[in-house]
Amino acid sequence: MDCLFCKIVAGDIPAQKLYEDEHVVAFHDIAPQAPVHFLVIPKKHIRMLSDLTVEDTFLAGHILYTAQRLAKELGCDDGFRVVMNTNEIGGQTVYHIHMHVLGQRQLTWPPG
Ligand code: 5GP
Ligand code: ZN
Repeated sequence: MDCLFCKIVAGDIPAQKLYEDEHVVAFHDIAPQAPVHFLVIPKKHIRMLSDLTVEDTFLAGHILYTAQRLAKELGCDDGFRVVMNTNEIGGQTVYHIHMHVLGQRQLTWPPG
């Protein structure tokens, strides 16, 4: 399958991995938008959040759990932001579901 993040999961494309288990991989974003900016992805290829099925609900929770755990490990005890850009209007560019975790700077609202 021609999917960038599946290639990172398979190890065919290098990434600065922070964490990996049987369900998820977390790695630093190649173009960080904050001092802490990493992505948590499922090993399973899911195109976007709106393709999630009821069978994926454990996985979705595990992604969220991993995101906050690693955020704290990287020093974001005072807060951080998680984002899942979904489809074109949501600004998604890589069509393999991923949770952005951003921290270590003051983030503003609303986002662009
Ligand atoms: P999206 O725009 O789909 O929400 O997020 C995709 C993210 O993946 C972007 O923040 C982008 O910088 C990151 N990204 C794209 N290609 C690569 C890559 O090859 N390696 C890593 N580590 N991040 C990537
Ligand atoms: Zn994929």
